[in-house]
Amino acid sequence: MADIIQLLPDSVANQIAAGEVIQRPASVVKELVENAIDAGASQIIVNIKDAGRTLIQIIDNGSGMTDTDARMAFERHATSKIRTANDIFAIRTMGFRGEALASVAAIADVELRTKEHDQDLGTFIHISGSALITQEPVRCDSGTNFQIKNLFFNVPARRKFLKSNPAELKYIINEIQRIALSNPDISISLHHNGSAIYELAGSNKRVRIVSIFGKNISQNLIPLDTETSVVKITGFIGQPKHARKTFGEQFFFVNKRYMKHPFFHKAVTQAFEKILPPDAIPSYFIYFDVDPADIDVNIHPTKTEIKFENESAIWQILQASIREVLGKFNIVPSIDFDQSGSLEIPMRLQNFADVRTPEIEINPSYNPFDTHTTAKSHAGGGIPFAPKTFERTNPSNWQSLYKGLEPDLNEKSEPNESEPVQFRMEEQQTVKSSVQFKNKYILTPVKSGMMVIDQKRAHERILYERLMQVLENNEVASQQQLFPETFELNASDATLLTSILPDLRALGFDVRDFGKNSFIVNGTPGVLNTSSPIEIIESLLEEYKNSPVNLQEKARETVAISLAQASAIPYGHTLKPGEINELIDNLFACQTPNFSPKGKKILSIMPLEDFEKLLK
Ligand code: ADP
Ligand code: MG
Repeated sequence: MADIIQLLPDSVANQIAAGEVIQRPASVVKELVENAIDAGASQIIVNIKDAGRTLIQIIDNGSGMTDTDARMAFERHATSKIRTANDIFAIRTMGFRGEALASVAAIADVELRTKEHDQDLGTFIHISGSALITQEPVRCDSGTNFQIKNLFFNVPARRKFLKSNPAELKYIINEIQRIALSNPDISISLHHNGSAIYELAGSNKRVRIVSIFGKNISQNLIPLDTETSVVKITGFIGQPKHARKTFGEQFFFVNKRYMKHPFFHKAVTQAFEKILPPDAIPSYFIYFDVDPADIDVNIHPTKTEIKFENESAIWQILQASIREVLGKFNIVPSIDFDQSGSLEIPMRLQNFADVRTPEIEINPSYNPFDTHTTAKSHAGGGIPFAPKTFERTNPSNWQSLYKGLEPDLNEKSEPNESEPVQFRMEEQQTVKSSVQFKNKYILTPVKSGMMVIDQKRAHERILYERLMQVLENNEVASQQQLFPETFELNASDATLLTSILPDLRALGFDVRDFGKNSFIVNGTPGVLNTSSPIEIIESLLEEYKNSPVNLQEKARETVAISLAQASAIPYGHTLKPGEINELIDNLFACQTPNFSPKGKKILSIMPLEDFEKLLK
């Protein structure tokens, strides 16, 4: 048999490798801005057109490159940042794999102008799909100017996979946020289609955070400052009263690199335990400095997870320092004091003199729930944001829906998932005996066993169908706000909200752009009956961001789903007996009572036999 193995041509190999490093326009922005930082730039300008589809331009005043280096930079594994494998353990630069430029050049048109500061002439290079088109001397500023055009021109599958412009722009904004927060001393600007999103002057961490997240955050930042032999921790945590229901202001950095760290996130949220309502997420901007040899950044070219050598020690130190500052600011609940006092520092750390046990000032009369939860809690009793039907203005009689089905269904002992309208109640009395369990489920005896209903998903389904009705019948009913409220969002959330404003208005949520990332709520959807619209908008944005539904095609539906999710009764909410019955009534008046708008199961029946088996 003839030999069949061949080496892939470089251009093909680069294109395959590009898939790993460059998933979307935001990946290009990240790689090129990181290169500018590695080149010592103090000023970086990012210009974007059409969310990066048409143009990504990055201009820096860093070192620049010689003409040979400029050409070499596009070769795979070409890097100036490491020479030997050992260098990886002391890495302080953002890049070191030498993959980014080769990857970008494989899937786009790249124009580079670069000049070293002591040279008169620079170099111009044009590369397209890994092929060098031109290289010639050019007059240009010192530093480096990259223009990436026609991204993914030769990878149609990737191009199709991109999301809507607002969604892609949001990814770019997120990358810039992370880089801007990790390098507050560098001045960074971001422009999209000619208008400025950020113009951040080089400054310190606090000023940088405020210029990104708005001046409201300023008085809410509590500084952290702990230094031990294994780690130095600086940055800020947000006051508990500033915590929101949405993710977006949680940042960890290690050695000026953004990272995700679910384990450390837990350390933070645990330190805030009992100070915050269960569904609120504290804001934090936490910077770790460690010896580069103590972390592994080499896990995956784009992954933001980082392995720490002293993970559990740092966990303890992190939590101790947060508890300490919360204590200093008198915002630790009294029940926690015992725990904080006897905080365990791992054995090997105990001889480090610089690990201090937090000293906590106690204010015994302080009740954190007085001030913080009231702001968050829903006005009035009963089911928050209950739809109108909860007020019995239009009680639907779901039992009648099942009447015609009884004989047929009685023959089946097992519920059949493919039929939406299969669950029927026995009679009025069984409904009356429904109970709430763990403030999360509703248990209802049915003929074949016990039905379990997820209360939040059930309410989501009810609200969703009402909202879709509003859309279909074009019957926008907005409840006007007596006192229109204004609120401010960070730039990326503001961009997202602006893009869905028309859909929100179609649903009766009358929100308007007020300029400078602030908005005003004039009215809320009649069907939601809500008293805390801003809170709903925050949750709505969070739900929307996490929505897998294709945003471009089903924008309205996605907004309706997100709105239903954001407004549904939260877990942990105690329902009165009357409310339990209304919820069940309304659920079974829905077209699809079995599944939540996102397709999760709302209910299930535990058959009688299973109970019998349990007790055998
Ligand atoms: P890496 O960053 O992993 O070294 P890249 O492909 O991102 O790999 O870049 C390759 C090389 O090109 C870098 O090591 C650096 O020497 C050079 N380079 C890239 N961007 C710049 C820039 N903006 N200024 C100066 N040099 C740069
Ligand atoms: Mg790089």
